[in-house]
Amino acid sequence: MASDQSFKLTYATMFNPPELLHEQYDAALARIKADMGREYAMLIDGKEVFADEKFENRFPADTDVVLGVFQKGNAEHAKAALAAARKAARGWAHTPWQERVALLRKAAEIMDRRTFEMGVVLSLEVGKNRMEGLGDVAETADLIRYSCDRMEANNGFINPMGQDPLTGYVSKNTSVLKPYGVWLVISPFNFPAALSGGPSGAALVAGNTLVMKPATDTPWTSRLIAECFKEAGIPDGVYNYVTGPGSTLGQALIESPEVDGITFTGSFDVGMGIFRDFAQGRYVRPTILELGGKNPAIITKNADIEAAAVGIVRSAFGLQGQKCSANSRILIESPVYDRLVARIVELTEKLSIGDPTDRATYLGPVVNKGSYRDYQEFVGELKAAGKILTGGKVLTDGEYAKGYFCAPTIAEVPYDHRLWKHEMFVPISTVGKFEKLEDAMAIANEVDYGLTAGFYGTEEEAKWFFDNIEAGVTYANRPMGSTTGAWPGFQPFGGWKGSGSSGKNAGGLHYLQLYMHEQIQNIVRKA
Ligand code: NDP
Repeated sequence: MASDQSFKLTYATMFNPPELLHEQYDAALARIKADMGREYAMLIDGKEVFADEKFENRFPADTDVVLGVFQKGNAEHAKAALAAARKAARGWAHTPWQERVALLRKAAEIMDRRTFEMGVVLSLEVGKNRMEGLGDVAETADLIRYSCDRMEANNGFINPMGQDPLTGYVSKNTSVLKPYGVWLVISPFNFPAALSGGPSGAALVAGNTLVMKPATDTPWTSRLIAECFKEAGIPDGVYNYVTGPGSTLGQALIESPEVDGITFTGSFDVGMGIFRDFAQGRYVRPTILELGGKNPAIITKNADIEAAAVGIVRSAFGLQGQKCSANSRILIESPVYDRLVARIVELTEKLSIGDPTDRATYLGPVVNKGSYRDYQEFVGELKAAGKILTGGKVLTDGEYAKGYFCAPTIAEVPYDHRLWKHEMFVPISTVGKFEKLEDAMAIANEVDYGLTAGFYGTEEEAKWFFDNIEAGVTYANRPMGSTTGAWPGFQPFGGWKGSGSSGKNAGGLHYLQLYMHEQIQNIVRKA
């Protein structure tokens, strides 16, 4: 493990990885491969907890490979985890915020030290390529640190207010933001580190205790995050990690009156169901929802075509199109349409597809059989309604035989086709031509989602784009990614409309406050 400490992954090195990164990744991969298939417990009140039923976590690039065996938790485990979190809530809330910050910073440091191990696990269970896997871990540590920074910058959110002018009295007012109590974090498969660890870090720094439930496809990464919390010395019961189906274990958590607040990241349909069920409690509780996206890029005739093509291909097909921020709609002004589409197709066809742990791989498999099936169905629909410009098939020969490999696909279909509005969440993007910028903007905004959006054109046009686009994270002229690649402290991440409920982006100035409620303390004495 010692070699892991000699290299630190940062925002800058993500784009320009040194050779040492690959050496350390390969070493971690060898260690993990030698120890695969183990059974992992849940962590409740600091103890390893086993359920009667188990489930297997398999490698989506080769489904013969069992990565680990995990616990199929049920309603009893939900109850036990919430009870542990409740028991620890008072003590943690009354722990001085500086101590909480110190413990969370320590957890982030441990994640830094374990970056390569965790990055490998992310490639194995999600199918992320090397840089995407490592990036997810680095982002998690930075999200946690960002919450710590905000706590410090705001002096623990304890602020003196004005003294009201009462004759004969001195009236002192203080605003204090305090934790809600027990916080539930439910995360999706695609960023199991950042979307478990980021909200968990915010909840914990703010002084809430935690129950964390990852997606069934990706239980391992979140287990490692829980281990980092433990190793950092965060007290037993303050963090709890449970695994099992969303429909049973997850639903039991949602229906419990013991949950004081929730952060759910996942699909629109599941999120809206959770929103409605959670609203059945005795009173309104904070509900942070981070949901799907259908992210457009608009490219004008004045755009740098090469920058646009590179950015679009990265954002359409990074993580096999399974990012909430994936660039799934590409709107191109007519005079540059043919040239840009040809270049996008050319770059797409150069993408390397294979084992996500291989250094040369850009696209790994999609996460599971359901996504593999979805891809084939969408391709069938698109073929029937329009033209597949590249891709449009699953890969089944040789090294692809045992995995869920899909060729990255660009399709041209009329704007009234339903897949222009439906989040497909596989490596398929649609392209369309426009004559007037206003028409492109109308199409871009004509969906229930509003997560990210990209633009390529002049700076003056970009200003118009920012003024009119309905999305929480917007980018112009960015070859690093048309709609993806947000980083805490730089591009805080969150959605508008059906993409998010809070209107405040994670890794930004206003996020941590969502995990606390305000108390005004007024004390009066005679002058
Ligand atoms: P899902 O909505 O299928 O699942 C998300 C989580 O919810 C999983 O842990 C799942 O558990 C759990 N769950 C499912 N049903 C219930 C229930 N009834 N009660 C409680 N929990 C439940 O999403 P995916 O994992 O497929 O993730 C992809 C989706 O996430 C996409 O729509 C994507 O856009 C969105 N997303 C949004 C982001 C954002 O920041 N806005 C970021 C990343 C992804 P189980 O796996 O056991 O079913």
